[in-house]
Amino acid sequence: MEKRESKNFIEQIIEKDLADGKFPNGIITRFPPEPNGYLHIGHAKSIVLNFGLTQKYKGKTNLRFDDTNPDTESIEFVESIKRDIRWLGYDWEDREYFTSDYFGKLYEFAKDLIKRDLAYVDDSTPDEILAGKGTVEVPGTNSPFRERSVEENLRLFEGMKNGEFAEGSKVLRAKIDMSQPNMHMRDPVIYRIKRMAHHRTGNEWNIYPMYDFAHGQSDSIEEITHSLCTLEFENHRPLYNWLIEQLGIYPSRQIEFARLNLNYTVMSKRKLAQLVENGVVESWSDPRMPTISGMRNRGYTAAAIRNFCDRVGIAKRDNVIDMSLLEFCVREDLNKVSLRRMAVLDPVKLIIENYPEDQHENLLAENNPEDETAGERKITFGRELYIEREDFMEDPPKKFFRMAPGRFVRLKHAYILECSGFKKDDNGELIEVHARYFPESKSGSDTSGIKAKGTLHWVNAADAMEAKVNMYDRLFKVAEPLADKKVDFLDLVNEDSLNVVEGVKVEPALAEAGSKDHFQFMRKGYFVRDKNAASDELVFNMTVGLRDSWAKKGGK
Ligand code: ATP
Ligand code: MG
Repeated sequence: MEKRESKNFIEQIIEKDLADGKFPNGIITRFPPEPNGYLHIGHAKSIVLNFGLTQKYKGKTNLRFDDTNPDTESIEFVESIKRDIRWLGYDWEDREYFTSDYFGKLYEFAKDLIKRDLAYVDDSTPDEILAGKGTVEVPGTNSPFRERSVEENLRLFEGMKNGEFAEGSKVLRAKIDMSQPNMHMRDPVIYRIKRMAHHRTGNEWNIYPMYDFAHGQSDSIEEITHSLCTLEFENHRPLYNWLIEQLGIYPSRQIEFARLNLNYTVMSKRKLAQLVENGVVESWSDPRMPTISGMRNRGYTAAAIRNFCDRVGIAKRDNVIDMSLLEFCVREDLNKVSLRRMAVLDPVKLIIENYPEDQHENLLAENNPEDETAGERKITFGRELYIEREDFMEDPPKKFFRMAPGRFVRLKHAYILECSGFKKDDNGELIEVHARYFPESKSGSDTSGIKAKGTLHWVNAADAMEAKVNMYDRLFKVAEPLADKKVDFLDLVNEDSLNVVEGVKVEPALAEAGSKDHFQFMRKGYFVRDKNAASDELVFNMTVGLRDSWAKKGGK
């Protein structure tokens, strides 16, 4: 991975803490996903940060599922999250926790607050509570239920837990100060009634803690030394600190950093869920999704994603990162690891007139010029080949260094040819290109003295295999699909984000492609085998083109 020279502000804080001897047993961070969707590239940023820090400084990172909201959470999401973190290259060992495991402790914390007259049961309706909160300019007003006795509060809270009250009829609120400028400190709701089964605790609980109550306390229970979260929680920090102080529990230090935003996509799980539910994409793992599993199916590597997160760095202000930076990192890694192969996406026959009909020969082709250990493979050559339709022009401009009558071109790993003609059908459609080859111009032992400026990829018609290729484009037509609140982001989806190309001709070595192999189709881009295709079908997903195509298309 790229090494950064300067330290980001979180590393500086940690180094100071360590120098001050605050954490002799090492630091502890955590990655706390809510299992209500698949992880996306924004989560990768948080994972790389949290696990990266405890690799760099002596420490441990916990995985904690923040499962306080039974409506939207499921085991499928829990499993996918674990798979994705492992794939990214990180290990939480045996420290796999669930906030739901702390429901008992959290309930005791709440009772502790009640006993010290720091929390009360409020029977106000949600609208009344909202109205009583005031606004940034106007202070809130005290609830008529604020002065209930400790005994009554304890009894009612227990009743809430035991399912004696209807959903929405009562909440537990912290008793702080309705006139505080920070809205989160105006007697926040910390428990609500929900008569709903939880994916882990079943029907045990009729009440569930609010995120703000569960999250900070869970950090304390696990003795997290540095609790890293995104900027929108900065305003919640005074509340977390208040609770820690009142309860006298482990003082985890919260530090906020800017969330990762990428253009031409959306990142919130709620929005991603809408794309899945509306059939815009096939699933959470569709290669067009900004999810880790989507990117894996697309052919992105874990190393590329880690490197991307590292390059983006840690900021204190929100910004939008260009998709081309992510693609640059993917290309950089794939250039090192991918096997070079030849595939003709839009084939047209090439007939070598002076090559004997019954003759075939084997040629050697390197698998990866960037990696000597990758070795060579055999490719076959014969009289009839396929080349790309766009590599021929009947009447080309001067600088067209491909096939055109009278011009010379080299076929990769093979011979130099001179184009001698072509054939069209009745509709004027090109059906054959004709050429003559120079036997003494064989790659590696060329004594012909002929110059050919262009080199084309090709496959031998005799043993070419038929494949299908999924080509991808950006998922949205605009850079920031959520910028205009009046427009439904689903209306901004790019209808051409998937283009299935059939009838692709590929060299036979690609039939042995495993799902973990990455390929560079020469002159075309990087590809990976589609894991979801039937095993007797050859289907490839395009990972990324060879060059930045965003600038060309007017992307910012
Ligand atoms: P979403 O809006 O996508 O649902 P979330 O923050 O609600 O995101 P969580 O599952 O609660 O998702 O997040 C788990 C962790 O990942 C949190 O610590 C959160 O701060 C972090 N995280 C989520 N999105 C991003 C992002 N875009 N950039 C950096 N960190 C993120
Ligand atoms: Mg969330």
